[in-house]
Amino acid sequence: MSNYHPLTESEAIQIARSIAGIFETQGELISREIGDGNLNLVFHVSQPSSGRSLIVKQALPYAKVVGESWPLSLDRARIESEALLLESRLAPGLVPLVYHTDHDLALTVMEDLSSHKIMRQGLIDGGTYPLFAGHISEFLARTLFFTSDLGMNQQEKKTLLGSFINPDLCKITEDLIFDHPYTDADTNNFDEHLRDDAKQLWTDETLHLEIALLREKFLTHAQALLHGDLHTGSIFITPESTKVIDPEFAYFGPIGFDIGAVFANLLLHFASQEHWTTETSARSDRRQYLLGTISEIWTSFESKFRALWDEHGIDRVAKLKSYQDDYLKRLLQDTIGFTGAKMVRRIVGLAHVADIDRIPDADVRAKAQRIALEIGKSLIKINRQAISIEQLIDIAEASV
Ligand code: ADP
Ligand code: MG
Ligand code: MG
Ligand code: MG
Repeated sequence: MSNYHPLTESEAIQIARSIAGIFETQGELISREIGDGNLNLVFHVSQPSSGRSLIVKQALPYAKVVGESWPLSLDRARIESEALLLESRLAPGLVPLVYHTDHDLALTVMEDLSSHKIMRQGLIDGGTYPLFAGHISEFLARTLFFTSDLGMNQQEKKTLLGSFINPDLCKITEDLIFDHPYTDADTNNFDEHLRDDAKQLWTDETLHLEIALLREKFLTHAQALLHGDLHTGSIFITPESTKVIDPEFAYFGPIGFDIGAVFANLLLHFASQEHWTTETSARSDRRQYLLGTISEIWTSFESKFRALWDEHGIDRVAKLKSYQDDYLKRLLQDTIGFTGAKMVRRIVGLAHVADIDRIPDADVRAKAQRIALEIGKSLIKINRQAISIEQLIDIAEASV
């Protein structure tokens, strides 16, 4: 890593210029840093004369958290670029094109997706995305199936696993999702009006057992190569197109963790509808749209995963029909559990979601927060008994 230093905007231009086939030789390049700067730099480099552009994303060697910085391995940039390359092979068209990687400089040069919106903002703006369920279920089914022991040579998988250990970023998840929300931790961050709700979380033993079991799965169940951070801020979207970005948390973990990330963020948005849609029947329509999307994602994921298994399953033992049914049942249960865990942490833990934090009225915000907490806790509690996605939908409907 001797060559590593954070890039200036003009160095980002030099790197961009060296990528063949993007820019015209003549014509000035402009660079703008557009990341939030907490973990990574993101440079948007464009050439006004040709209308061409690209993105240079570079990892910083620390994370800024609660005003302090904590060291973070630059190796996550290699992990992110290798995950993007693998995902684009497995799920073509659903991730940005990678033009160049430099592991010493901890950077990835990739396709500019500025024509898309970050899905979290798109939802806040009231957008609907009729193709999203089809796209994301395709992304999930293909990336997860083909990196699991069902769809990948098991010896190859063990080798690949070694490239995606990712201890630093897994540690963030372990602490912020599976530990801190359930105790009076310094990193927790919640509105004072939620203190009693938070205290209940700290003493609910039934919940603690389920969280311990989910955490154990996160720590030990190397089922497939996960994206690892698949919230709606990691998805670029238009009504026609979906692109998944930012897989720096990629590691081999339980499949339900990725699906649960998508569901949790749709349900957090569901809760935030207390504010974003004021008229009662429009709000209820909006919520039905979100629940319908979740249902469709699960149903499509399941049928695509089963079809891949039937067609590409690599070994005889795993082809047993009753095993496939049992496997899918466990995926649903894990998905429901991780969905709940990811909702709770966004209300009382360190990092929140804009859908809810941007609600200006404290009472309305409290209401949305409590809806999210109730859904999250219920999902965590039922996860091991779940047999149908309808149970998740019923819990969400009963919360409003
Ligand atoms: P971080 O890991 O720091 O969260 P992200 O990869 O999520 O970084 O990128 C942060 C922001 O930079 C995104 O929300 C988006 O606004 C912008 N960005 C990242 N990648 C691209 C891209 N390929 N095209 C356009 N903008 C991008
Ligand atoms: Mg960020
Ligand atoms: Mg991000
Ligand atoms: Mg990131």
